[in-house]
Amino acid sequence: MGITRLAIMIAATATLALSACSDTESGFGAIDEARMLAADDDPDNWLSQGRTYGEQRFSPLADINADNVGDLSLAYAVEFDTNRGQEATPIVVDGTMYLSTAWSKVMAINAATGEVLWRYDPQVDGSKGAHACCDVVNRGVAVWDGKVFVGTVDGRLVALDAATGDEIWDVVTVNQQQPYTITGAPRVVRGKVIIGNSGAELGVRGYVSAYDADSGDLVWRFYTVPGNPADGPDGAASDAVFEQFAGDTWSGEYWEMGGGGTVWDSIVYDAEFDQLLIGVGNGSPWNYRARSDGEGDNLFLTSILALDPDTGAYKWHYQQNPGETWDYTATQQMTLADLTIDGQPRKVILQAPKNGFFYVIDRADGKLISAEPYTQQNWAERIDLETGRPVEIPAARYADAPYLVTPSGLGAHAWHPMSYSPQTGLVYIPSMQVPSAYADDVNYKRNIGRWNTGVTFLAPPEGLVPGDTPEARRAFITAMTKGRLVAWDPVAQREVWGIDRDWPWNGGTLATGGNLVFQGTPDGVFHAYDARDGKELWSFGQERGIMAGPITYRVDGVQYVAVLAGYGGSMGMASQTDWMRRPPPNGMLLVFRIGGTAKLEPLPPQEPAPYVTSTESFTAQQIAEGQAQYLGYCTICHNGPVNPNLMRSAVAADPAAWQAVVMEGILAQNGMVSFAPWIDATQAEAIRAYVISEAANRREQEQ
Ligand code: CA
Repeated sequence: MGITRLAIMIAATATLALSACSDTESGFGAIDEARMLAADDDPDNWLSQGRTYGEQRFSPLADINADNVGDLSLAYAVEFDTNRGQEATPIVVDGTMYLSTAWSKVMAINAATGEVLWRYDPQVDGSKGAHACCDVVNRGVAVWDGKVFVGTVDGRLVALDAATGDEIWDVVTVNQQQPYTITGAPRVVRGKVIIGNSGAELGVRGYVSAYDADSGDLVWRFYTVPGNPADGPDGAASDAVFEQFAGDTWSGEYWEMGGGGTVWDSIVYDAEFDQLLIGVGNGSPWNYRARSDGEGDNLFLTSILALDPDTGAYKWHYQQNPGETWDYTATQQMTLADLTIDGQPRKVILQAPKNGFFYVIDRADGKLISAEPYTQQNWAERIDLETGRPVEIPAARYADAPYLVTPSGLGAHAWHPMSYSPQTGLVYIPSMQVPSAYADDVNYKRNIGRWNTGVTFLAPPEGLVPGDTPEARRAFITAMTKGRLVAWDPVAQREVWGIDRDWPWNGGTLATGGNLVFQGTPDGVFHAYDARDGKELWSFGQERGIMAGPITYRVDGVQYVAVLAGYGGSMGMASQTDWMRRPPPNGMLLVFRIGGTAKLEPLPPQEPAPYVTSTESFTAQQIAEGQAQYLGYCTICHNGPVNPNLMRSAVAADPAAWQAVVMEGILAQNGMVSFAPWIDATQAEAIRAYVISEAANRREQEQ
């Protein structure tokens, strides 16, 4: 992997005061509709999530280019206060950078020097971390009219003064008694702040809301799935379309676990058609049989929805996975582009969603133009271009037998930003190959407040490999698990070049006018490639895994490239490999320029904590019970490098301390809530028995 063990030592850089910017009116966060619509011609700034409304994550800046990128070096770094995952894309407005970090905190930074101008902490209740399926991450802020907007992991939307970081308003956007969270970035359209939410793994009903940027008043809300018909209409913008046809696409008592359909990432304003495009997530529970009696398309799960930005009224939809049953989502980044297809100019949406197909969709009416797999997939033969519906492989629905499905719920592409260069005509996708064995959990019972998938992942199906032991099957799946940076031609629907990664969770990408593609990787390396052929031109190694999307901007004529480093997210919680055995250091903002002189100093070497040892003995029944509970409750958050590895935790050797943490919740403010609502003390002790037994197994395997 070539990891160099480095840590921060930033030379105090001369501070460069921003002249004449003393309050909101005098310039901080000065973005309005006209400026946002003209963002393409303003390459010094990075004004919203994907730089412009079209979210291509392409910057025309070319001062740093394929010829001189070898001279790129660190300008400055800013260390964060936690080693939880960092997923945000920073915003840069007129020399000031605004960024969010884990636990929904916000910072403003002098983008040329790294001087921290202000910090904001929304004081999220730490126990809310238990509702975050995929770490307490935040993917970014929005800036508009002197304000900075952030969604918080406890479901609030907060407006801050861009000059000072002072709170202007703070509204609760979800029912905080339910397991909703917010990790996605807001977008602002015509003075309305658009925000979605997350929680479809635990059981919620998805929706998107628009708030007045000045007052924080709710303007409209659109639910993506129907509610309980017994409760009547919601009084929301979505009522009409559920009454007309979408409500009839559901069966059974789907409302009991909310139905899912959260809008947890992609929200795009399409100015040319004056429509708001939102990407809708998976069903809750995942299993179609358990959710909707296996009947109906279940609109608007896994759909792109076009709404009127002023009223939230429905315009059109395109559904990718009717009757979704794998945790597939259409929440992945939507990129707007003008392409020439079969000689005709087309205004399209480009999307590489979880299900592994690359979709090109007409923005005028939501009609599918083309769809081809950008990675391995085994759930569909093809997508029918006449109907827009997939031609599925029936066994993939795991209704009668387990199925090793690829992509799995982690997706062939998750939230990691992709980029599109109009210069090369290529889309740069951080793709993943993560197969997973799905089986119908016939004993599934609703488990309020915890994971609800209706799927069991315990048994890789037989017949996968010669010899066919459970261990051989698992090893086979592990060997199939990897990542690939894919450079995709969206017109020809084919890969032009690609780079294999031996770990799936590879970082977001940035494409530039200098014919460069930047991408970080979880081993802590930040790479620059030639956008035309994928040749590696430059890299920078340090010890923080990188997942987030990079940006580039210019201040006083100097071009910078910035990225957040800090490993975590769903894979950071749930899985790891040999080189991740110790907890990651705190995350960091890394900013580069040609001729930068900042240095990072090596961190002291740190060995992983020893496996827990104990002379206690447990019954086989206890250990088996503990394993089942561990897989049901613990592995989602404790199997990666970010949270404590229980097999290496001293708490496991101390029965009283274990009960205090697991049952009494003494670490609730870290996100480790009491599990007393779901398990009893005997089951907690059984988990401890399994952890000690498994620690002994792993120690033996490593010797
Ligand atoms: Ca999901």
